[in-house]
Amino acid sequence: MADKIEHLLEDLETFPPSDDFTSSSPVPADLMARAEEDRLGFWADQARELHWSTPFTEVLDWSDAPFAKWFGDGTLNASYNCVDRHVLAGNGDRVAIYWEGEPGDKRTITYSDLLGEVKRAANLLESLGVAAGDVVAIYMPMIPETVVAMLACARIGAVHSVIFGGFSADSIRSRVEDANAKLVITSDGSIRKGRIFPLKETVDAALEADGHTVEHVLVVRRADNEVSLTPGRDLWWDEEIAQVGDEHVAKPFPAEHPLFILYTSGTTGKPKGLLHTTGGYLTQTSFTHRTIFDLKPEQDVYWCSADVGWVTGHSYFVYGPLANGSTQVMYEGTHDTPDLGRWFDIIQRYGVTIFYTAPTAIRGYMKSGRQIPAKYDLSSIRLLGSVGEPINPEAWAWYREVIGGNRVPVVDTWWQTETGAIMISAIPSQVALKPGAAQVPVPGVVVEVVDDQGERVNPGEMGLLTITEPWPSMARGIYGDRERFIETYWSQFPGRYFAGDGAGVDKDGHLWLLGRVDDVMNVSGHRLSTTEIESALVDHPFVAESAVVGASDETTGQAVVAFVVLKESKKAEIEASDAPQVLRSHVSTKIGAIARPRQVYVVAELPKTRSGKIMRRLLRDVADGKAVGDTTTLTDASVMSAISAGVASGT
Ligand code: ATP
Ligand code: MG
Repeated sequence: MADKIEHLLEDLETFPPSDDFTSSSPVPADLMARAEEDRLGFWADQARELHWSTPFTEVLDWSDAPFAKWFGDGTLNASYNCVDRHVLAGNGDRVAIYWEGEPGDKRTITYSDLLGEVKRAANLLESLGVAAGDVVAIYMPMIPETVVAMLACARIGAVHSVIFGGFSADSIRSRVEDANAKLVITSDGSIRKGRIFPLKETVDAALEADGHTVEHVLVVRRADNEVSLTPGRDLWWDEEIAQVGDEHVAKPFPAEHPLFILYTSGTTGKPKGLLHTTGGYLTQTSFTHRTIFDLKPEQDVYWCSADVGWVTGHSYFVYGPLANGSTQVMYEGTHDTPDLGRWFDIIQRYGVTIFYTAPTAIRGYMKSGRQIPAKYDLSSIRLLGSVGEPINPEAWAWYREVIGGNRVPVVDTWWQTETGAIMISAIPSQVALKPGAAQVPVPGVVVEVVDDQGERVNPGEMGLLTITEPWPSMARGIYGDRERFIETYWSQFPGRYFAGDGAGVDKDGHLWLLGRVDDVMNVSGHRLSTTEIESALVDHPFVAESAVVGASDETTGQAVVAFVVLKESKKAEIEASDAPQVLRSHVSTKIGAIARPRQVYVVAELPKTRSGKIMRRLLRDVADGKAVGDTTTLTDASVMSAISAGVASGT
């Protein structure tokens, strides 16, 4: 295969951990070695960090592959592990959540407070007839009751299906129907950008037509907007919870008892409802959370900016951090309300030490300029993380320098809704970091980058990322569709999981994620990675963000077409030059003439999913002059009309 990524063979600058960081790290130095020596024994040890009501004797049962059973004969309760356990260990006074509402209202919730609320909510769900195995849909803003609702479901063995609070009535309807949800938990409204979004009204619209299985809708008061309650069906959360008892004993469930259903973000097409179970999921989310984030639960203030509607919110806001007894920040609103300094203000006020966000946010701040974070004291930060998309080396460097004060490790973490937890990431106390690379599989995870025939690729070549051994937090299927799970993930390379992402291996054997395979371009017989060209563009001082697609081309098969968002701070220089021309040559110099974009379009914004990922398939339609495909998972569909109009008029 001729598709080389030359820089992967060069000596790139690396950032080793400081002696201080390594010597004060709580992460055992021999983790990698232990996992390599005895993979299953290693995972069993990690699982034993949890509280088991019945200890397991069997680690992995792969006889019904690809449907794994981990720790199958053990029993545990996820909610007990996330809350009761810490209170019983004497840490009830530790803050679990510093919550901040967008208007500035605040709540501090200790582990004891959280336990009280979760117990009452569990009693409430049971009083409404919700039992183990029933599905509860949660359509909520980022408020503490959302976490309470999730943990209350887990406590009684009900399966939650969290639906991102920005989704439409149709999305709620299809998810409620797909899983036969019995109960919906929502709020009157949510507050974002100073406006009220009527969540309850959206749920009403979703449930308007008959033919669903929802018996009750519980409504949490948040925005105080007016709502109408359907008698017999709808109930106020606060009124009901006042009537139930505050004692509740968490019963153990089998390790393979379903914990939740969650739909993928829909970057490539229709979302898939992935099913996750209890023991393995909790093992790997808590293990990766404490290891990759170097967690010191007594000292750290951790903040993951992801919404609970995405898998990152499930694994690295709810289950991983709470299972580890962390203190964390929960913020309700948007990053730019009242102004672009909001996140940094939060970091400064709570003394956030570990911050986990997405490249889209970092590139957004690169666009608006470093003078915004520079106004705040961010010296409490000791570790930064990134997830969701490849982080371009330039964005990595900016994040480390501007937010991390040029001193802290930045870990890039690769994983998916399907994998449940982080799969590829350096352990920052042990591995020298490389800007732009996720680097190494987590201990106990085994991956291989292969070509179309399933043969392992050589260093410097581009291939497909596969996972060759089962892992504890892997999805146990697509809800209600056994065949689709096998077909989607396990049929391309029998016996292996194929993630849909391209990757390269560098000369040290480290992994570089190169974007989705669906997005890979083929120009005159050469396969080119979108990530590589996008990184070359972002490397230029004019560019804050870019998206590259392959458009049909009569001579070369496909041609590279780039869409760029330019930095506001470079306005004068940009106006004095022919930016598209400058950028075409820049790519040519950085990667080679083969990668030079046929066109570079300057746009105000890129089309993104609601979780902030670039939707290249829509841009491909524009570049091909075709009608733009399905835009329902976009945050803002008007971005696409503006781009189409701009491209059609030749600007
Ligand atoms: P859909 O599967 O419906 O198209 P999605 O893949 O965007 O949606 P998620 O499960 O939220 O839904 O995202 C996982 C994907 O995000 C990965 O497959 C990968 O393409 C991308 N990704 C996540 N983290 C990283 C990372 N650190 N580096 C590169 N890509 C990443
Ligand atoms: Mg995906």
